[in-house]
Amino acid sequence: MSDLFINGVWRDASDQGTRTIVCPADGSTVGTVDEAAAEDAGAAVAAARAAFDSGPWVDTPGPDRAALLHRLADRLAQEKDEVARLEALDTGKRFVEAQLDMDDVIAVFRHFASLVQVDAGRVVDTGVAAVSSRVVHEPVGVCALITPWNYPLLQTSWKVAPALAAGNTFVLKPSELTPHTAIWLVRTLAELGLPEGVGGLVLGSGATVGAALTEHPGVDLVSFTGGLATGRRIMAAAAATVKRVALELGGKNPNIVFADADLPAAIDNALTAVFLDSGQVCSAGSRLVVEESVHDQVVAELVRRAHDIRLGGPFDEDAEAGPLISAEHRDKVQSYVEAAVAEGAQLLVGGGPPADPALAQGSYFLPTVLDHCHTGMRCVQDESFGPVLTVETFSGGTADAAEDAAVAIANDTIYGLAGAVWTENAGRAERVARRLRHGTIWINDFHPYVPQAEWGGFKQSGVGRELGLAGLEEYRETKHIWHNTRPGPAGWFEDRATKEGDA
Ligand code: NAP
Repeated sequence: MSDLFINGVWRDASDQGTRTIVCPADGSTVGTVDEAAAEDAGAAVAAARAAFDSGPWVDTPGPDRAALLHRLADRLAQEKDEVARLEALDTGKRFVEAQLDMDDVIAVFRHFASLVQVDAGRVVDTGVAAVSSRVVHEPVGVCALITPWNYPLLQTSWKVAPALAAGNTFVLKPSELTPHTAIWLVRTLAELGLPEGVGGLVLGSGATVGAALTEHPGVDLVSFTGGLATGRRIMAAAAATVKRVALELGGKNPNIVFADADLPAAIDNALTAVFLDSGQVCSAGSRLVVEESVHDQVVAELVRRAHDIRLGGPFDEDAEAGPLISAEHRDKVQSYVEAAVAEGAQLLVGGGPPADPALAQGSYFLPTVLDHCHTGMRCVQDESFGPVLTVETFSGGTADAAEDAAVAIANDTIYGLAGAVWTENAGRAERVARRLRHGTIWINDFHPYVPQAEWGGFKQSGVGRELGLAGLEEYRETKHIWHNTRPGPAGWFEDRATKEGDA
């Protein structure tokens, strides 16, 4: 095996720990990988620290760093199907979706490569002729990159690409459930010439390896994507050494449908919003917030369509959605639905695993719709991270009152990652988009993103931004350099010896 990459060497775990990776579509074994111990994480940080401090990457000119990122993108384009296959087996997601994810990864590496080449800092006019003053960007240092299982390589690319573009060194810890594309990435970077120690890989559990990284004094930045509870723990652990943190956490994302929307488009997109990747998407439109006058029509159509969604494994060409990541996660989604019904939600479709015996070995869950929900219910406030849609209804005596009601409902959450508004009234669309306290707003759409635009959450959906320009800034320190080209005495304190000497 030797799946840990520390100081340019592929190694076994120091305590010989291993983990078997299982495909959630059918329970088959995908492979066995090393499972690092905390001391392996420490060794990886020490190597990344030494590599940062000795400078082989930070001193590499920006265009050369960009060239490596482009070479990585080229290689992924060549090996796309093979890497997509690894991703599909680890996650159980459809192969065609994994292929699309690979296209996104390629675009992310190219985006950050292009940014490195354009930013040379800026000159500041101090008003003092003899002073040259400039603001420059430098890498933060050693970055611990901790990623989840739902879009394993894509979420990793959002971190590795800017970290390398900015000149940092890193230690990557992917989810323990989906390590194979992270191994591919680090192996490929090493083959393409990433200097020794600059990129490290430790596989293992969050509780052991993740915690060791976040607590390590040699780490300067922790960039984490995952759940809110873990994000809180990481923020607390990072406080001890005042590390920089970048957190991309969960979402409970409202999808608002006004009665004046293009309803067929809104309904079709509402399905994709929540059931794409079986709801295991941080920006899933898991809350339908629909105007009362069209509620019955919209919900009836959604239920009919949700009932017809075909489930299946990664290589089943008829399948439209895959399994959940694990049986344990499926049980969590099941108990979430049961709790929702207990608190008054009406289950309209789905609500459990499919009866189809062909799917019995996988951790599938039927697309589920829960009606009569409101913001006082846990099922509206907590992330299920499964294919579960809650329906909330709004109304107002006037057009303004309807907008106020929709916005109040949509913002009544501790999260603030993403949301959408569907209406044919452009003025209303703009007003509502501005009032929503979420990091991404779609108008008459749901889900698309581009690496050129920032991604991240308001409120408890996170700290900082990935992608866009800000996604590079997360990985850079800003330094002001003041150069006095004609030095002389400051003249603030009296030099008594000189004065007495003069006397
Ligand atoms: P998770 O359980 O929080 O795990 C995420 C990563 O953190 C994994 O690598 C995990 O390791 C690690 N981890 C767990 N405990 C840790 C600790 N104490 N210290 C350091 N690292 C630790 O989340 P998940 O279940 O994998 O992913 C689903 C969550 O991610 C959802 O809440 C989703 O909304 C969020 N997400 C957000 C975005 C976004 O852009 N905002 C994108 C994707 C996903 P192990 O898995 O190896 O234990």
